[in-house]
Amino acid sequence: MFWADKIAEEIAKTKKPQIVDDAKTPSGRVHVGALRGIIIHDLVHRALKAAKVKSHFTYIIDDMDPMDDLPVYLSKAKYEKYMGVPLKNIPAPEGSGSYSDYFAAEFIKVFNRLGADPEILYSSKLYEKGNLDKFIKLVLDNAEKIQEIYEKISGSRRPKDFIPFQPICEKCGKIGTSVASSWDGKFVSYECSDEKVSWAKGCGYKGKVSPFGGKGKLPWRVEWPAKWAALGVTVEGEGKDHASKGGTRDTANVIAREIFDYSPPYDIPYEHILFGGKKMSSSKGVGASALEVSEVLPPEVLRFLMVRVRSMQHLEFDPSLEHTIPDLFDEFDSARTSEDPDLKRIYELSLIDEGPGKYFILRFRDLVNLVQIPNIELVKESEKKKDGALTKAEKELLEERIKYVKIYLDRFAPQEVKFTVKEELPKEVKTLNKKQKEFLSKLAKLITSAKDAEKFQNNIYQTGKDLGLTSSETFKAIYTALLGKESGPKAAWLILSLDKDFVVKRLKEAS
Ligand SMILES: [Zn+2]
Repeated sequence: MFWADKIAEEIAKTKKPQIVDDAKTPSGRVHVGALRGIIIHDLVHRALKAAKVKSHFTYIIDDMDPMDDLPVYLSKAKYEKYMGVPLKNIPAPEGSGSYSDYFAAEFIKVFNRLGADPEILYSSKLYEKGNLDKFIKLVLDNAEKIQEIYEKISGSRRPKDFIPFQPICEKCGKIGTSVASSWDGKFVSYECSDEKVSWAKGCGYKGKVSPFGGKGKLPWRVEWPAKWAALGVTVEGEGKDHASKGGTRDTANVIAREIFDYSPPYDIPYEHILFGGKKMSSSKGVGASALEVSEVLPPEVLRFLMVRVRSMQHLEFDPSLEHTIPDLFDEFDSARTSEDPDLKRIYELSLIDEGPGKYFILRFRDLVNLVQIPNIELVKESEKKKDGALTKAEKELLEERIKYVKIYLDRFAPQEVKFTVKEELPKEVKTLNKKQKEFLSKLAKLITSAKDAEKFQNNIYQTGKDLGLTSSETFKAIYTALLGKESGPKAAWLILSLDKDFVVKRLKEAS
């Protein structure tokens, strides 16, 4: 049984409607690794619905979080002064909106395209509308108990008078620098500190503010369970670095139970997507952005990348490696045509909507060769391979795949798989031996009568063999004469796609 279906089956036993939630701090351009979380949650949401469980999917944009790291692609001169300010109050890199809206919108667009369509919520709005007020009061009234929980679960000590609330400084607007010192039942007193964090400097202001209605936020370990309780979240996972023993999740679970009297959501810890063995990082520029990757793969193939791997398994993804993208397409196609129930389910859950049903399409790797051959009709080639006419949908899918093949060739394909027919006799023909030249001269005569590529390919091989050439020597001779390199696409198809007089002349020149 597919892993998300197993989870859904287990949750279905509760016989209760479910709220599946995920969240993200829009601290900059989001990396493809962050898509894993939302796809995992989307899968469980879909699996729940398939199991006839009522399920609602929410996604919280944590826009009250401070800017705590400056992404490498942003101007230091423009943004350094915003370190510590809530992301929602920082200007966007372009346009008139906020920083958090700008990067959240980019990410939402990508995951919507991947078929994940949660209700989008903003933590700033939850605070402003008072949805969290009740829990803020519980937190402040139980500050000491929360401190004990922190210490017991994670072993981290806080100062004795620790007040788990971060007001937005009324003078400088920073939230990352404020330290609350007391709570009198109505107001939180605080100081905007110089020493609280290394990445931002406070202004020294001392003030008093009501903690309700968006004047500040709860620290993350407390805010997380407060959001569960406020929204009624029943399913939420997290990246495995938060799932370790004594980590954020453990602390949040205990706070949910002991402070909010709320049973923690079903947990789905998950592994990260690694890029060259490293965890991707938005601010360090490690890995490819979600937007970039969504432009080089069709949505269902990008989804497939994440669907087929169990949540606690590593997932390496480096599109710049030679085989990554062609392999992914091959594996997608093999799941698409598989009769194995698990693979069928994986394919089904990779689709954005109902999908096109069964269809024929040429292998990605074959298309990589074919699109580089001049004058070839790809629909005709497909129909030969399919042994029948392409449907309208198949023609559209072919066109789409050609688009992605061209992107691959343009951006990721290594030199070995790229070729162009040389207009002049390549200088590399000097490397051909006597037998190879003799073969080319014979081949020049064969071409005039050649029609069927399959038969011609055999004929080429046999002609070389009769001259005592190995298969590799035979085809190298052709590629050298036409492309100036030792490898290329299937020779017969290449030759038949070209003007016959041109090929005959070239082979004679080379022999
Ligand atoms: Zn301040």
